[in-house]
Parts: sequence; structure tokens; C-alpha cells
Amino acid sequence: MQEKYIVSVDMGGTKILASVLNSKRGIIARQKKPTNITSGTKIYVKDIAEIVKKVVAASKLKRENIAAVCLGVPGSVNPVTGIIGHAPNLGIRNYKMKSELEKLIPYPVLLENDVNLGALGVKSYGVGKKSVNMLAVFVGTGIGGGIIINGKIYRGFNFVAGEIGHMLVQKNGPKCGCGKKGCFEALASRTAIVNNIIYDVKKLKKKSVLADLIKSNQRIKSGSLKNAIDKKDKVVISRITEACETIGDVLGSVCNLMNFDMIVLGGGVIEALGDFIMPIIKEEFHNHVFDAAEKGVKIVASKLGDDAAIYGGLALAEEFLGVKI
Ligand SMILES: [Zn+2]
Repeated sequence: MQEKYIVSVDMGGTKILASVLNSKRGIIARQKKPTNITSGTKIYVKDIAEIVKKVVAASKLKRENIAAVCLGVPGSVNPVTGIIGHAPNLGIRNYKMKSELEKLIPYPVLLENDVNLGALGVKSYGVGKKSVNMLAVFVGTGIGGGIIINGKIYRGFNFVAGEIGHMLVQKNGPKCGCGKKGCFEALASRTAIVNNIIYDVKKLKKKSVLADLIKSNQRIKSGSLKNAIDKKDKVVISRITEACETIGDVLGSVCNLMNFDMIVLGGGVIEALGDFIMPIIKEEFHNHVFDAAEKGVKIVASKLGDDAAIYGGLALAEEFLGVKI
């Protein structure tokens, strides 16, 4: 029998990333392409078809080796119908992605929300392998969550379950990208942390090693935050600590509700600052969670990085096609 693979496509806001992989050999080929959404969804779908063809060619596999193409969508998805409800960063709304893309490539197309795929990747191929009831939380520009119950992804009534980033944490708090106020991600994402640091430096005139970056309006990435922590920058340490305490509180609350056996943290902020922030998150979690809900819960950092969602494609193929790849 021929060895089977999938193509996992990460439909990011800045780039499309396509990878060919299976569980035995891991990722064997990768290709990327800048995201072009200004020309409309039709062109964007053509771009995905092109990069899929390119990465299959780069893998030197034959058409028969590819069992499916799995798309990780930054937005709401119905994986059963293959329709994207709304992907704001890509300007896509109510689009039959599965059927449109299948017109252009000779493979079955599967779709899932990218954060759910990340959770599936962590569960099937990462630190969550032994977990049965798991929460995956990804902290970066925003905060995303994926829920695994009894070993399966929990999608909810309208496929929007897991939106932990938009749980209300502070009534009338800072404005969130979703339009509401006081959401978890408006208080504890990298965007929130950076906004607070900018406020401290610009409005409160506090000193920080990031002052030059802020004055020249440069983007502050997780790496710059890590540098500032290493230099014991008080503003940065205080703002990150504050965000970590919020993260610990929310995880404690959610654990009281759901009684998870494992919480996996991933995303740019966790990867860059994990050594500094994981102990703070754990301590605050401990302060807030019920004793009985805390018993035996593991809080760990994901080691799959951006590959979590790529590996999640394998679990999606298994769920929808019934084949282990
Ligand atoms: Zn929100």
C-alpha cells in the first residue's frame, strides 16, 4: 500500500503556509506565499490551490499519496459543510471554501478553525497525548482556545466553542478587537501587554529599555519583550506579570467549570517568555482554582510551536476520512 500524506495549509493573515506531512515521517516539505486578500476571495483560493500544487511537487510525492488537504482557518468554520462563516483578517464571509477549492485541486479538502487545529495537534502529536479533557490556550496577538473533551475537539452548537479570548474579565475594561469591552484578550494578549507598556512610557513617562522602539513606532514583538525582561526592565516585568495573573485567574475559573486534566499553553508569547511567565501563571492559577479541580491538573507549555495546527490536520483527516495517516 502506498504511504499516505496530507497537505496542511495555514491560512495566516500575512502568509499562506503549506506543509506535506504524515505521522510517521513528520513534515517533509514546506512552502509559503504572502497572503493577498485585496484582490478578492477568488484569487485567494487560486493562491491556495497553487501553493498546494507547489508543495506536493516539492515533496516529490505522487497525487495518489495525498489523502487530503486540511485548511486551518483564522475564523469561524463549519467543518461538516466546509463553509467559512467569517474570517475577518482574510475578508471572507459565508464562503463555500471546500467546494470551491475542490474544483481547483484533485484532493478532498477539510477545514477547521486554526486554534482548534492547534489543540488537536497538541492532543494527538504533542504534550497532550495522554490527556483526555484538555484545554489549549494560545497567547499571541490575541488569545485563542481549543477544548478537547473525552479525547475529541468540542466545537459547540454553532462551531464557535473555545473562544476563551472573549470571555469577560473586566466590565467596561479596555476595548477588544471583537468590538466589546473587557475581554480576556484585551487584557492579557501581547497586544494588550504592549499597549499597556506604551501607555506607561508615553503617558506616565516611565523609563523602559523599549522606549526607543516605542518612540519610533516600531512593532514590539515577543522577542523584544524577552530582551527587556532579561534586562530587568521594571515596566515590562510589571505589565507582563499583570497579564500572567489575569491568565492564571481565567484558567482557574475555566478549570472550575470544566475540570480539565491538562492545560497546554502555546503561541508566540509563551514560546518566547515561557520560563518567566509559566511560574507566575501557575501560582495565580493555584490561588484561584478549587482545590478539587486543581488536583492532578498539569499546566504545560506546548513544544510544537507553529507546527501544532499543521499536525492537527492529521487528526482532522482521521476524524473526517476515518484514516490514520
Ligand atoms: Zn473580545
